[in-house]
Amino acid sequence: MPAMLPDFSLRARNSFGFEVLAEQAYSITDAEQIGAVMEAIESAGLPWRVLGGGSNVVLPPTLSGATLLMDIAGQAISQQDECGTVVSVGAGVNWHDFVIWTLDQSLPGLENLALIPGTVGAAPIQNIGAYGVEVGGNIQSIEAYDCHSKTMVTLPASECAFTYRNSIFKAHPKRYIITRVHFYLPAAWSPRLRYADLAAAFANRHAPTAEEVMVAVCKIRNHKLPDPKLIGNAGSFFQNPIVENAQYLALLKQFPELVSYPEGDEREGKRKLAAGWMIDHCGLKGKRDGAVGVYQHQALVLVNHGGGNADSVLALAKTIQDKVQDTFGVALLIEPIRY
Ligand code: FAD
Ligand code: NAP
Repeated sequence: MPAMLPDFSLRARNSFGFEVLAEQAYSITDAEQIGAVMEAIESAGLPWRVLGGGSNVVLPPTLSGATLLMDIAGQAISQQDECGTVVSVGAGVNWHDFVIWTLDQSLPGLENLALIPGTVGAAPIQNIGAYGVEVGGNIQSIEAYDCHSKTMVTLPASECAFTYRNSIFKAHPKRYIITRVHFYLPAAWSPRLRYADLAAAFANRHAPTAEEVMVAVCKIRNHKLPDPKLIGNAGSFFQNPIVENAQYLALLKQFPELVSYPEGDEREGKRKLAAGWMIDHCGLKGKRDGAVGVYQHQALVLVNHGGGNADSVLALAKTIQDKVQDTFGVALLIEPIRY
């Protein structure tokens, strides 16, 4: 069993940069350690939670009980044939480093997801997505500690219920502790340039390589998004709301400029509304409220200018949710996990 780390600072392990103290922390470097740690936690009746890189959480100043820091390393090709490759990766591996590693191995497929902060083990939790690609599409199976059966299990992707920014893991947060992810990267590959920023990067050019797509994604993201090392944030603070077509058409009459995209299968008749546009339309882009604010270049991102905390960012979020609800009649859901 790993040593218990008392009063462990998570300041460097939450991308908002909030001052956070974990009463007890355990660095999990091997899946086999989890059973004993969970037994100790349960017999002491402690609250607990899992933390990866802390880039999609809002943490309070004190995290009572136990915090499991997922630090399982290692990545390797586990199967390969002419159709594709299976890569097995520890939950604690940095996501972006892993994407770069796949490209170094000439394994394209994850390049649109470059530069997303956090760990491989957290990627399935909200089925991370960017530029029209979702990680669930490349997951073959997931190894996890099942807190119900107290055993290690392997879940095929078909049992993970991956949908837009959601999965079985997000829906049932205390059930599985992910230890390893098996990715399937098909040999057949073509660039996915559906999003306008990415398409523009390659307009009037030859079809790019996966490496070139990755470089373009990094360039766009570096230009548009705040670097958590410089200004604390958790990426998009709100999900893009998905509404019925009838509601979308009614809104469009009132707001002809409303930015939206067809969602899923057209027969489903749903529409994804750009929450960033709605917040901007309410005049809140760049709004500052003490230590926290709405990022001036991307209204979906809330930032910690320094000295903010969970209460201040959640109060700002509530102001935004209320304004968007009053203006558009649409509820904005908070994306990061709150503790
Ligand atoms: P954490 O924040 O540590 O944890 C998130 C949740 O997952 C928590 O509930 C935690 O308990 C749980 N968890 C973590 N690891 C495990 C595990 N091994 N087993 C079980 N549960 C676990 N997200 C996107 O989808 N697309 C983007 O393009 C994107 N861009 C971002 C840009 C910036 C600048 C930032 C700051 C964030 C962005 N995000 C994006 C959000 C975030 O990077 C992802 O959600 C990422 O997967 C979180 O990883 P993490 O390791 O930091 O997870
Ligand atoms: P963007 O390209 O300016 O687009 C704004 C919004 O419109 C995005 O949220 C995106 O939805 C949607 N969109 C744009 N083109 C679309 C298309 N062709 N089809 C369907 N939906 C489309 O967004 P951005 O802020 O620069 O981010 C770029 C990508 O990185 C997006 O995919 C975004 O989700 C992702 N990202 C996510 C986070 C996070 O924390 N979750 C943070 C930063 C960036 P989607 O969000 O559904 O893609």
